[in-house]
Amino acid sequence: MDGYTYPGGKHRRKHGPLGYRSVGEFRDWLRDEFAFRCVYCLEREQWANCLGHFHIEHFEPVAMNPDRELEYDNLLYSCQACNLLKGSQAVPDPLTVFTAVAVVVQKTGRILGKTADARRLIEILQLNSPGFRKRRRLMIEILATAAKANPALCRELLAFPEDLPDLARLKPPGGNTRPSGIKKTYFVLRRAGRLPETY
Ligand SMILES: [Zn+2]
Repeated sequence: MDGYTYPGGKHRRKHGPLGYRSVGEFRDWLRDEFAFRCVYCLEREQWANCLGHFHIEHFEPVAMNPDRELEYDNLLYSCQACNLLKGSQAVPDPLTVFTAVAVVVQKTGRILGKTADARRLIEILQLNSPGFRKRRRLMIEILATAAKANPALCRELLAFPEDLPDLARLKPPGGNTRPSGIKKTYFVLRRAGRLPETY
């Protein structure tokens, strides 16, 4: 467990809130949907000052398709850096392209794409820039050191945030196209005692 293992397969959305009038109202749905980390670089809320650091990213840029500005399936959870670097470019879909099979992070912090689309997305997002590489190498070393010297610290770094959103309390104006996702929220898992200690 190093914090940089990409999802096991293509992401299937579990939530489908409809009808919000501002992007910010989707935030808690997206936090839960994407496990409180950036879909592009896997930076976690637990590793950063969450306030201001995580953005809501339009996969299809608003400039290209304003009709999808408030469409849940067009929204991603991303760190500030990835959001800025992606900007209004059309890119391969990280939910399809960035999987554990297609992307590997080395101990040096370098990220390797094993498919053409993964390599293209890594290139566009500049995920092998010195800043990103250093960030990953430092986190990998901190986690490895903590695993030996301070396992509680390691668990804390790899834990879910404490403020898990209770999505059942939210009432999107247009309803929820995937209501069964509520049972799968991390909030519900924790209440049922089924939330893994780390991920
Ligand atoms: Zn990122």
